[in-house]
Amino acid sequence: MTERFRAGWHVGRVASRRPEAASAVRLAIDVPTWPGNHAGSHLDIRLTAPDGYQASRSYSIASSGPTTQVVLAVDEVPSGEVSPYLVHDLREGDELEVHGPLGRYFVWTPDDADPAPVQLIAGGSGVVPLFAMASAREQELQGADFRLLYSVRTPDDVFFADGLAALAKTRVDMVYTRRSAAGAPRRPGRLTRESLAELTFPAEAVPRIFVCGPTPFVETVSGWLSELGHDPARIRAERFGGSG
Ligand SMILES: Cc1cc2nc3c(=O)[nH]c(=O)nc-3n(C[C@H](O)[C@H](O)[C@H](O)COP(=O)(O)OP(=O)(O)OC[C@H]3O[C@@H](n4cnc5c(N)ncnc54)[C@H](O)[C@@H]3O)c2cc1C
Repeated sequence: MTERFRAGWHVGRVASRRPEAASAVRLAIDVPTWPGNHAGSHLDIRLTAPDGYQASRSYSIASSGPTTQVVLAVDEVPSGEVSPYLVHDLREGDELEVHGPLGRYFVWTPDDADPAPVQLIAGGSGVVPLFAMASAREQELQGADFRLLYSVRTPDDVFFADGLAALAKTRVDMVYTRRSAAGAPRRPGRLTRESLAELTFPAEAVPRIFVCGPTPFVETVSGWLSELGHDPARIRAERFGGSG
């Protein structure tokens, strides 16, 4: 039985911040009362303005395990209410209210009873929980084969580039939608059903599949996976929002 990390409200303090990609920031937040979390979980951040106005948004956790520091990567939605503040204004030492860990459905834990391969499919910032899963897999001596398909605009928009390059147990395939990396095997362009089929485990391998990203990306990819013969019961999806 998988251990459950009980969700609750906590006060965290920004330990460090650094640019993550062209429009994103990586935040390490110390949360002394954090119970730990499974790979793939998220938390809610609640901000309170001096006049008492509050806004909450969900952010996936790039770290996992029994730790009291959580790592997030936040991409700026330019017209957004919360993400521009987190990307530009939040400083080391600032306090934040967080609620979590959340999302028992969209987590990966080693499952010796299900040796099937694991396919991760990310669009943009949707790579955050999937990076946590691939990193957690890295800690296991034995286990399922992992693949990550990561669709992102340009090489400058890649999250966790160094961490992805260091993965030894996950095969990573990149799809650049606007500009490819030098020497990349594919021309830039949106993922298609054909390239999805080419770059993921086939339905016959009966993989567990985790799809995460903007809502339209997740809807499209999930539909293609079903058309390619994958059992919808094996597909877990997390939608980050947005309409296009
Ligand atoms: C479970 C979960 C986990 C998430 N994890 C992450 C994460 O790890 N990193 C991350 O950067 N974001 C993540 N998000 C998205 C995040 O919660 C916010 O939606 C995002 O930061 C925008 O918030 P905002 O207040 O700036 O924009 P809002 O003021 O809420 O929205 C402004 C406009 O942008 C659109 N919009 C909202 N969200 C998105 C989006 N994701 N993409 C494109 N357009 C959008 C809205 O439809 C609206 O038109 C996650 C969402 C969920 C549900």
